[in-house]
Amino acid sequence: MKTLKAFEADFPNEDACKKLLAECRWPDGPVCPRCANTKVYALKSKPHHWVCKSGITTTDTEGKQVTCAKNGGYRFSVITKTIFQDTKIPLDIWFRVAYLMLTSKKGISALQIHRTIFGEDSGSDYRTSWFMCHRLRCAMRGGIEQLKGIVEVDETYVGGKNVNRHWDKKTPWKAGGEASGKIPVIGAISRKGNVIAKAVGDMGFTTLQDFVAEAVSTRAKMVVTDEHSGYRHLRGHGFFHKTVNHSHHQYVTGSVHTQTIESFWSLLKRGIMGSYHHVTREYLPLYVNEFAFRYNGRNDPDMFRKLLQTV
Ligand SMILES: [Zn+2]
Repeated sequence: MKTLKAFEADFPNEDACKKLLAECRWPDGPVCPRCANTKVYALKSKPHHWVCKSGITTTDTEGKQVTCAKNGGYRFSVITKTIFQDTKIPLDIWFRVAYLMLTSKKGISALQIHRTIFGEDSGSDYRTSWFMCHRLRCAMRGGIEQLKGIVEVDETYVGGKNVNRHWDKKTPWKAGGEASGKIPVIGAISRKGNVIAKAVGDMGFTTLQDFVAEAVSTRAKMVVTDEHSGYRHLRGHGFFHKTVNHSHHQYVTGSVHTQTIESFWSLLKRGIMGSYHHVTREYLPLYVNEFAFRYNGRNDPDMFRKLLQTV
């Protein structure tokens, strides 16, 4: 990521923010967010607003049939159907909050963001920052191609009450697992590449197998997992599968290890405990999004533009 100064230079005012957003959202020109029609007209009287007059009928979020051509055309702006819609917060504030989140490797609390952006005596509510962070996390969703190369797949538990426990999931309390109020998370990581992780309802055979099929390409050179029985049929599904035998203290045998994904788990858990202290089952998927998005953009100077593509 750029320095804060260079980052802010890209959008000196609200107009520039909107231009940047339109550029990232629609690299080939504006597209109707309702019917995906590309032949839209800019409204001369209102910058960053367009009208769509297409005859295509689509179903809106409430399940109603809508046609853009009706009632003089469907008007939309650069923030329509984005996380920025229906808020009174200027885009430059949104962008600065996003910058803080993207540059904080271990995560940053909404309270810290509130102090940095709004100031403690601003009279504004810290819940505004909390709400913004959550919306931004929603935009940090997937979009990562199936993983190739050497891929490590592993599962862990996040959350729960015992904060002083050692992170190593191989210690006996792992047996407590779901019963201890911890939330199962499964992840796959391509060495030197991307991570795909998600919170799941259970660690059952079907969950693990479906996750691998979704996240890992069968053209991956090798898939390394621990000896969890949920992975027992990977070979039969076209994967070159190797296992690490943790129970015999065999952690590293040449390239057969799961240390890359374990580092990611450690980052996620320390980040969640350090910055957010407690995460509920409802919101954990969003925090997993955030940590994965930041990890995948770690060498990308334009991570912010990537985020604007999916808002
Ligand atoms: Zn339309």
